[in-house]
Amino acid sequence: MTDDSDAAARAALVELSRELGRPDRAWAVLAEGNTSLALGDGRMLVKASGASMAIAVPGDFVAVGLPEVLALVDASADADPSGGHSQDDDEAVRALFGAAAAGGRRPSVEALLHAVCLALPGVEAVGHTHPVPVNALLCSPRASLLVDGALFPDQIVVLGTDPLLVPYVDPGLPLARVVRRMLRSRLDATGSVPKVVYLGNHGMFALGSSPAEVLRITEMAVKVAQVVLGSLAAGGPVYLSAEDVARIDTRPDELLRRAALAAGTAASASPSTNGDRS
Ligand SMILES: [Zn+2]
Repeated sequence: MTDDSDAAARAALVELSRELGRPDRAWAVLAEGNTSLALGDGRMLVKASGASMAIAVPGDFVAVGLPEVLALVDASADADPSGGHSQDDDEAVRALFGAAAAGGRRPSVEALLHAVCLALPGVEAVGHTHPVPVNALLCSPRASLLVDGALFPDQIVVLGTDPLLVPYVDPGLPLARVVRRMLRSRLDATGSVPKVVYLGNHGMFALGSSPAEVLRITEMAVKVAQVVLGSLAAGGPVYLSAEDVARIDTRPDELLRRAALAAGTAASASPSTNGDRS
């Protein structure tokens, strides 16, 4: 990778991190959250531990080899299929990220999850946040309302039809191992990669083809959570029928709109699906 493309990747991550970390949004406060981008040479650029998204600078990101991280996740799965958390795991992560930190900053332990997401087909950028409305549901007994169905057409256009909900797991290798297993079985079952992964009692990961798409996914997931919370005060959510969901998911105009959004070329900051269908 050239110096120019490294600088461009860092600039893209700074922009995304500052958007996701905007204080008025409260999607990630203090040092919460992290972002990553595939570099195209088998490495990812990921936010360093302790850096604040709101005031991210190019030096806050560190390059880590994806095969090395994934080998660690998979090796642990083989060694301990029960999903337990061993001291060996902690030491292995420390050793790997210590090596990555030799040339700069130490990656966050959540870099493991970024590597798991970036290993999926079509995923080039990832954003992890703890938005208040999303966490209000994820920290409640009704977390599944986020994934039980779709409430409105724009939700389907931006978030797809297969968001994934992962129950709370100890952060670090145990969580990375469970998320990798669940994403793989979802991919096998549906042939598609979820746009959003919700982590119980923790937060969300947006899986995009670009930083612009990661921002859209996060924006829409926050809106969905707000709508779900609002609906609970008005009798509870009413989901679209499976027929309506399938029709919206495959409409040619929606597919075009989705492609435009993913490329960051949509004219409007608020994706609309022409609700009147005229
Ligand atoms: Zn987190």
